[in-house]
Amino acid sequence: GTTIGILGGGQLGRMLSVAASRLGLKTHIFEPGQNPPAADVAHRVTTASYDDNAALEQFASSVDVITYEFENIPVAALDRLETLCPIRPNRKALAVSQDRLTEKDFLKSLSLATAPYANVENLEDLKSGLAQIGPDAILKTRRFGYDGKGQVRLSETSDLNAALQDLGGAPAVLEGLVHFTHEVSVIGARGMDGQVACFDPGENVHRDGILHTTTVPAPLSTAQKTDAVLLTAQILNALEYVGVMGVELFVTHGGLIVNEIAPRVHNSGHWTQNGCVIDQFEQHIRAVAGWPLGDGSRHSDVMMENLIGNDVDRVSELVHQGVALHLYGKVDVKPGRKMGHVNHVVGPAGVQQS
Ligand code: ATP
Ligand code: MG
Ligand code: MG
Repeated sequence: GTTIGILGGGQLGRMLSVAASRLGLKTHIFEPGQNPPAADVAHRVTTASYDDNAALEQFASSVDVITYEFENIPVAALDRLETLCPIRPNRKALAVSQDRLTEKDFLKSLSLATAPYANVENLEDLKSGLAQIGPDAILKTRRFGYDGKGQVRLSETSDLNAALQDLGGAPAVLEGLVHFTHEVSVIGARGMDGQVACFDPGENVHRDGILHTTTVPAPLSTAQKTDAVLLTAQILNALEYVGVMGVELFVTHGGLIVNEIAPRVHNSGHWTQNGCVIDQFEQHIRAVAGWPLGDGSRHSDVMMENLIGNDVDRVSELVHQGVALHLYGKVDVKPGRKMGHVNHVVGPAGVQQS
């Protein structure tokens, strides 16, 4: 039978493993950390570091295809794996999304709207960037940022040296502050045959920089919804992408602006588990295994709520409330740690117009 190799054993790897298992496929997780959430449900786990070449080679030769649940995989490890086994989504998708500057340049090359941006390597760059973009801006590390970490908000009165230091002096990208009405995301999928399917856009609300809720349907006009889906397809096709991708968008009066893309299943797509015939995890497994994409149409309106840190204490009440619980089996509760999520199925699928 087919075995899917997954780099990363967090909750996304766990839910990918469950989906693979439901399709009769096996998964082999590669993860440096001890007792990762995916280990409970995967068929096999390799605990090793990304510079352990022997472990990487053994992993790659035991699987039919390699996919991943996070984008910051060391390049040297990918070079090694690639000689032994196909990697899906491909290296180009990873290269583009590992670095915010490369990502923005790529989006610009497709004529898609992004926030105005500038590369920042030092104080001079920052000053000239601000002169170009204006004082209301966000400075973000080019690599490794997530959950709003590695970002500093700037205004007229900011201490620029301190801002650069806050980011650890890492190469950064300066972005103009976008005045959006709300944030949405599209979870798109592309199969090996080039077929593209997108889930309905969801509205995302953050709390302390971390995704808090995703609600479908998102308040979008028919034109905005069409735009969101078409630009996602454009990105998938340009990358010759295989698998599921998350595309985060700002909705503005001037149109949709692409915030960032993630070359993997996405937290804002968890609603699909209880809102769709086929969810994002099954869709990703189908794509990377070379199967045709499934029917991702939405049968229900859903509000997905993340359980972060102590939110997980609410589980004792939530079990009585007729909601769909998804818990990741994590033992240590820490502030900001994603412990699980809840899908509130609100009713049969409707249409919401903004
Ligand atoms: P994620 O956890 O989604 O990967 P991240 O750490 O990569 O997040 P971003 O998505 O770039 O960070 O930014 C986090 C949030 O900060 C956005 O969802 C948005 O609310 C706000 N934000 C980011 N960039 C801008 C911008 N240019 N203008 C206005 N708001 C922004
Ligand atoms: Mg991000
Ligand atoms: Mg984001």
